Amino acid sequence: MLGHGPYCVTMPRSRRTRTDACPGAWRRHDAADGALARFRPVGGATSAAELRVLAGAAALGGSPLELTSRGSWQVRGLAATTADDLADALRADRPDALLDARGRDVPCGLLASPRSTRLDAVAGQVAAALRGRVDVPGRLLVALEDRSGGDVSGVASQTQNPVQHADRVRKATPTPGDVSGQGADVTVVVDDGATAALLLDGPHGVVDTGLRHPDAAGLALAAVDAFAARRDAAWRVRELDDATRAAVVDDVVARSTAVVGTPHLTPGPADPTALGPHADGSLEVLPRLGELDVPAAAALLDVLEQQGAALRATPWRTLVLRDLTDPADALRRLAAHVETDPASRWRGLSACVGAPRCAKSLADVRGDLADAVASGHAGGLVRQHWVGCARACGTPGGRVAVVEALDSGTPLGYNVHATGGRQQRGHYRTVVRSGRVTG
Ligand code: SF4
Repeated sequence: MLGHGPYCVTMPRSRRTRTDACPGAWRRHDAADGALARFRPVGGATSAAELRVLAGAAALGGSPLELTSRGSWQVRGLAATTADDLADALRADRPDALLDARGRDVPCGLLASPRSTRLDAVAGQVAAALRGRVDVPGRLLVALEDRSGGDVSGVASQTQNPVQHADRVRKATPTPGDVSGQGADVTVVVDDGATAALLLDGPHGVVDTGLRHPDAAGLALAAVDAFAARRDAAWRVRELDDATRAAVVDDVVARSTAVVGTPHLTPGPADPTALGPHADGSLEVLPRLGELDVPAAAALLDVLEQQGAALRATPWRTLVLRDLTDPADALRRLAAHVETDPASRWRGLSACVGAPRCAKSLADVRGDLADAVASGHAGGLVRQHWVGCARACGTPGGRVAVVEALDSGTPLGYNVHATGGRQQRGHYRTVVRSGRVTG
C-alpha cells in the first residue's frame, strides 16, 4: 500500500515514472487563483524578516499566508515574476534558510522540536548535508525530536558508549510540541544529550529501530542515505517492503556505526498542541485553519521584533514563539488574531483550500468548517481535516478523520445538515484513514 490514507494509495511504485509534484519555491503549482509557492523552513525556523516578505507576497496575491501540515509556508495567487521575486527576496535575507540555490528547492521536509534551542544546530547540520541532493524524494520527511534536558549541541562529541544511555532514551517521554508523532519517514529522538535513537516509518506507523548513536545529525543522515540507496521508485519509507526496510536498518549500522539497543521508544501524539504561554518563556498560538491574514501577520511581526523572539512553524499548523521577554504581553497582543486558549475548539481542525480557490473542490470547505465550529458541530474532540475532493490535500500526519465533500447526488455516507436554521453548504461523510485512525 502506498501512503496512509485511502486517497494516498495511487500507484504501485514499480509503475511510478514521474517525480513527485509537491510545489516548492521554484516549482510552483498552478492553482485556480494563480501560482502557489511553498517554502520549507529548516525545523520551522522563520525570521521576522522572512515572515514580513512572505506576508507581503501573500497580501499581493490576495490570500492569507498559509501554514502546511509539514510546518511549511504557502503563498497563493502569485504571478510568475512575483513568485521569482519572492524566492529571490527570501534568499537575499538568509540564503540557507528557506531555500536552496536559485531555481532549486530544498530537497525534502525537515521538522524539529519547536521549543528546543538545542536542536537548532543539529537541524542546520542535517539541512546543510541534504542541500542539493537530487536522489532524495521531495516527499521524504525527517523529524528531529528533543526529549533531553541536556546539551544536544555537543552530542556528536560525546565519548560515552551509546548502550549506556539506551535506558535514558527508553524512559524519555513525549512533551508538548513533540514532533515524533508526525509520521515522518526518519525520526531521530535525542534524550539527555548523549544518545540519539532512530525511528523509521512503516506499515504500522513510526517504530523504534533500536539503533542508537551519539551523533543525532549523523544518524538521521545515515538513514536518509540508506533509504536513498535502496528506495528504487519509492518516495516514502513506508512504501518499502519488509526485507528492504530491514536492509535499510542494516545499512544505517554500516554507515554510522550505530549500535543496537532495546527498541522501546514510542512516538509522541499526532497533535501535541499546547496553546498559550509556557514556563519556558514560549507562547504557542493557532491561526485558524493555518491562515495568517494581514492584521495577524502584522501583530505577530510586532511581537517578534519588539521582543526579539524566535518563531517556529509547526506541522500541526501552530506557531511557537520562543525567547519572549514578556509572554503575557505577547499573548494580549495576539489574542485578537489567533487562537491562544488551550481549550480552543479550533485545535486539531484543518482543511484544504477548497472552493473557490481550488477548481476541483465540491464545496467551500473552509467556510463550511467555520460554520460547523460556530454551530458546535465540529471541534473539541476528534482531529478532523475537511477536504473538497478525494485528493485530500494537506491531510496532516498521524490519526485524523477526513471529512470529504461529496457531490450532493452521491448516495454514499451521510450528509451533515445543521439544525436550528444554520444550513451547511456542502455535504460530507467521515472517512477513517486506513489502519491508523480511531476517530
Ligand atoms: S483536496 Fe481537492 S479540493 Fe482540496 S485542494 Fe486538494 S484538489 Fe482541491
